[in-house]
Amino acid sequence: MCTGAGDERLKVGPAKIFTDGSAGGRTAAMREPYLGSARDRGIFLYSDDELDELVTRYHGAGYQIAIHAIGDAAIDQALAAYERLLARHPGADRRHRIEHCGYIVPEHIDIMVRHGIFPAPQPVFVYDFGDLYLEVLGEERTGGCYPMRTWMEHGLYPAASSDAPVCGTNVMTNLYSMLTRKTAGGVTLGEDQRLTLPEALSASTYNGAYLSFSESVKGTLLPGQLADITVTSENLFGADAETILESKIDVTILEGDIVYDRLEEHGA
Ligand SMILES: [Zn+2]
Repeated sequence: MCTGAGDERLKVGPAKIFTDGSAGGRTAAMREPYLGSARDRGIFLYSDDELDELVTRYHGAGYQIAIHAIGDAAIDQALAAYERLLARHPGADRRHRIEHCGYIVPEHIDIMVRHGIFPAPQPVFVYDFGDLYLEVLGEERTGGCYPMRTWMEHGLYPAASSDAPVCGTNVMTNLYSMLTRKTAGGVTLGEDQRLTLPEALSASTYNGAYLSFSESVKGTLLPGQLADITVTSENLFGADAETILESKIDVTILEGDIVYDRLEEHGA
């Protein structure tokens, strides 16, 4: 397989294919129009035939595929392309993904489970862009966006990621979003999608390792793993979400070596 070539520091990931834009920019492809316009449903970058051609080419070349699809209509298109692909080439554990996968509807979950197609979402979008989503898409569609709990319960390993540099790399904002579903403006979006801290930590560690075929060496604290570890300024277990949001990374350990020490950097 092409994907996976390299080593644990630098390796070839999936082939990324963009199918739509972003919800905040009103370019994610939606089934229903954006608020304030009867016609504006976002954009598609490819026809169905073009997308079929791309996924067939990269699957055939040995890549894991990561299709960027944010709007529900783009996710319709991406899943249909994967379904056709996997009907022609069944069997292999390729862990094809949908990047972002923001505005999913219930029937998408069934297709993902049936074919082993996994979401790579950014819970932090709820915090950073949730207030904007409410403005452009309204409460009903926004409440169900990035449904971490639904994915976790269906065993779909949602890999909580930052999309940096779109959002910052501070993992605490992502954790806070998963725990509270709160926007930066303090509005709660779909509180039934909140995760517990252990679930949110798994989404931030194991799930990302799984979706990049690295779970045998990364993502859990067990003998035989690479000892990539962070030490936080607060004990996150038992801390409330606001404290977690404000807490800092004190030490970062990479393959057993300390590569960052916050107190040393501040001359303490
Ligand atoms: Zn993307």
